[in-house]
Amino acid sequence: MTRVLVWFRNDLRIHDQAILTEALAHNPDIIIPVYCFDDRHFQTTSFGFPKTGQFRAKFLMEAVTDLRNSLQKIGSNLIIRKGLPEKIISDIAVNYQVDLVCFSEEATAEEIKVEKRLKKKLNKANIKIKSVWQSTLYHPSELPYKITNIPDLFTNFRKQVEKESKVYSCLQMPQKLSPIPDIKIGNIPHLQELGLKDYQSNAKSVLNFIGGETEGIKRLNHYFWQKDCLKDYKKTRNGMLGSDYSSKFSPWLALGCLSPRYIYQQVTKYERERIKNDSTYWLIFELLWRDFFRFIAIKYGNQIFYQSGLQNISLPWQENWSIFETWCEGQTGYPLIDANMRELKSTGFMSNRGRQNVASFLTKNLGINWQMGAEWFESLLIDYDVCSNWGNWNYTAGIGNDARGFRYFNIPKQSKDYDYQGDYLRHWLPEISVIRGEKIHEPWKLSSQEQKQFNIQLGVNYPRPMVDFFKSIKHNEQIYLSHS
Ligand SMILES: Cc1cc2nc3c(=O)[nH]c(=O)nc-3n(C[C@H](O)[C@H](O)[C@H](O)COP(=O)(O)OP(=O)(O)OC[C@H]3O[C@@H](n4cnc5c(N)ncnc54)[C@H](O)[C@@H]3O)c2cc1C
Repeated sequence: MTRVLVWFRNDLRIHDQAILTEALAHNPDIIIPVYCFDDRHFQTTSFGFPKTGQFRAKFLMEAVTDLRNSLQKIGSNLIIRKGLPEKIISDIAVNYQVDLVCFSEEATAEEIKVEKRLKKKLNKANIKIKSVWQSTLYHPSELPYKITNIPDLFTNFRKQVEKESKVYSCLQMPQKLSPIPDIKIGNIPHLQELGLKDYQSNAKSVLNFIGGETEGIKRLNHYFWQKDCLKDYKKTRNGMLGSDYSSKFSPWLALGCLSPRYIYQQVTKYERERIKNDSTYWLIFELLWRDFFRFIAIKYGNQIFYQSGLQNISLPWQENWSIFETWCEGQTGYPLIDANMRELKSTGFMSNRGRQNVASFLTKNLGINWQMGAEWFESLLIDYDVCSNWGNWNYTAGIGNDARGFRYFNIPKQSKDYDYQGDYLRHWLPEISVIRGEKIHEPWKLSSQEQKQFNIQLGVNYPRPMVDFFKSIKHNEQIYLSHS
């Protein structure tokens, strides 16, 4: 009798699922699917923020619930535990005399440490292990180079991959699995058990994100097939307001509820059946960024977390909490920054345009330690992905592997370029929403008469800019140039 345990991690789906395929390849009599809520994910980050905030925790619970439902539909179930996966998985494997444990490989230190500990325990118990890589669009074996030789410039990586590599087809979804043995199923913990406050939805949120592959696939169907948004993606992707300016696939991708290969397959289907254009290409282009950050994280190991970053540049970053909190709370006096930071804090999401701007402001205008920003994002983002987050922060802070000198975002200009009418600002900043026209982008330029007319008292009901934009840029640029 062959028994296989499949340990689900950030791969919460049954479509294109390599660990189930691997398990089935051994013709097992019994498959035991397990998910373990890792206690360490619910502790605090080094700067003291909850490592997994309520938005992501709620999404995760929904994703696990959905996976359990999907497994039940094909005759199986999902064992749920809370604790340390290396201990829990090996205990179940030993108690139920499992022959093989299958799981997906991850890219970064904390996750790899867990894998190593588990392997050690299973080796001792003489239980075989099969780990598979399945989080990227391109499988590492398809890349034109070893991961350690990945080009540091995204463009070079992309061009070669596009020319020489192929995306594997999706794996077949299992139609039937054997029932699990007589074992306690376990409950999905409540937010309170994980030390978190109750989840509060926000009607202003860009989307009501619900975890799980069912909802992920639903979102894809909505965005590609029902609303036909993909054909315009390249034009709309830099938006900030509304559900359909971009795909919003990121939370489902981060937990593996959507497979990047499934998205690819659907894009090619769309190209055949509807239209193939620069927008359909661009969605795949963005998925390549995701792959790139994942491979770069493997290439450089823990360096993506170091303050000196991938380029190893030591800068005298500030850790001024009062300034940092002003940024976190969206009280900087720069409407574009404030709107985005309030959106993040109250919904767990922020557009890519927003993320680039707020990260630039924190590092290039305020000179605050970028790691604090990265951890704040880690805590709050519903789509937190260790490689995409830390990789993008490296890049925006100017210490990334392909950082090109001191580059910054001109916040007032970006505000006008990407939110011309100010609708996004009005959505998030009620205190200045009455300002008509372009002036909403720079309330500090209002005359005293206009301030009266709009009932704005700068420094009273909306902050004055916390720094002079160009003076602060110049100051931090000088620091950067003298240290790099
Ligand atoms: C400072 C900073 C932090 C970020 N942190 C994260 C994070 O923790 N998790 C995360 O998934 N993305 C992160 N991103 C990347 C990007 O902002 C989000 O992936 C995107 O906003 C998600 O929205 P979407 O799914 O609608 O994207 P779309 O524009 O529809 O793109 C489709 C998919 O491509 C991928 N993608 C797009 N842009 C990027 C990018 N710059 N880097 C990596 N992948 C990308 C995502 O998987 C995304 O879902 C970060 C960007 C910045 C600047």
